[in-house]
Amino acid sequence: MTRDEIDALDAADPLAPMRARFALPDGVIYLDGNSLGALPRDTGAAMADMVSRQWGDRLIRSWNEGWIDAPTRLGGKIAPLVGAATDEVIVGDSTSANLFKALVAALRIDPARRVVVSEAGNFPTDLHVAEGAVACVPGAMLKVVPRGEVLAALGPDTAVLMLTHVHYKTAERFDMPSVTATAQAAGAVMLWDLSHSAGAVAVELDAANADLAVGCTYKYLNGGPGAPAYLYVARRWQERLASPLSGWMGHAAPFAFADGYEPAPGMKRWLAGTPPMLAMAALETGLDLWASVDRAAVWAKSAALWRIMAAAGEAAGLECVTPADAAARGSHISFRHPDAHALTQALIERGVIGDFRDPDVLRLGLTPLYLSHRDVWQAGEILGEIVRSGMYREERFGERLAVT
Ligand SMILES: *Cc1c(COP(=O)(O)O)cnc(C)c1O
Repeated sequence: MTRDEIDALDAADPLAPMRARFALPDGVIYLDGNSLGALPRDTGAAMADMVSRQWGDRLIRSWNEGWIDAPTRLGGKIAPLVGAATDEVIVGDSTSANLFKALVAALRIDPARRVVVSEAGNFPTDLHVAEGAVACVPGAMLKVVPRGEVLAALGPDTAVLMLTHVHYKTAERFDMPSVTATAQAAGAVMLWDLSHSAGAVAVELDAANADLAVGCTYKYLNGGPGAPAYLYVARRWQERLASPLSGWMGHAAPFAFADGYEPAPGMKRWLAGTPPMLAMAALETGLDLWASVDRAAVWAKSAALWRIMAAAGEAAGLECVTPADAAARGSHISFRHPDAHALTQALIERGVIGDFRDPDVLRLGLTPLYLSHRDVWQAGEILGEIVRSGMYREERFGERLAVT
């Protein structure tokens, strides 16, 4: 594509005004993909209001002025991004903690079903948490199989199929409706991790008849580092499942201060302890950006940005490990290269921030809300120059950064 064609895409981009809603530093093309979404401009003011007014002036009264309902209110704001009803999503804890709650709850449905099936090479915490969850349920075990064999691994002993919808490294996307239907036909519960999906690609949990889902908010939802995560439980399960982290905030009457635990109705039972309100304030600002956004335009722009970077990678002779079919991938693109680490470092030196994923993947996030077509095109030009010049040799970048 020529530069004029790229500029025409930007001129016709309905999301172009969203760029101004983010505080991105000059001289940086931010293609982190997407371990930490960019800072919304309004987050600083929202945090200042949270600290000085809500905490400083209103003090304990703030719990009755919007704080106590934050987990359900924010869940309601995430719901449309994942195709759920507002009363099917709650915000709290980390993705790791929510995975644990969902897995143990699902393992308790049917004592004859004891196996959690997942994919080898899934995001590490998903497998690590599953290892911990099965250790908490008598007789339970974890079966990790190659990606192409997960459906064949389902059987009469399968309790849960736990998969990440968009793969963190390759961006490969499972077909949610058909995989969910296959898991359920085998009698298993389907648990999706949407960490690289929400805000990046269309997700329709209810339409796919999903059972459970978790996801992260500091990636494409711009909630801030370590922002609270979310949990989805389909309505039909809400009164049948309970959280193994039976904390007081999930109690039917937390302020009755009873000795015995009785789960709250609906999604509130999945709360454990007191919500982190400073983090909730930052997250809510990120979520509010989506209120005015045409989501179909976001998914379409993601595909357009991908094509630009895929063409640049191809021109540079790089091996793309992300599927070319837009419906079969997320919103990042990954290239495999023996010197991927050095390439990533060389890009960062030129102002293009992407990520290296061990051992040989360069991952570039394509965030439709704040990247222009020109940004991605320019990053592709820089990538091509670096590859052609050979200016990325590993000895220049001996030390690997400990970023996740
Ligand atoms: C980012 C990510 C997580 C993050 O888990 P935390 O508990 O927030 O550290 C989990 N799963 C997947 C698939 C992710 O991409």
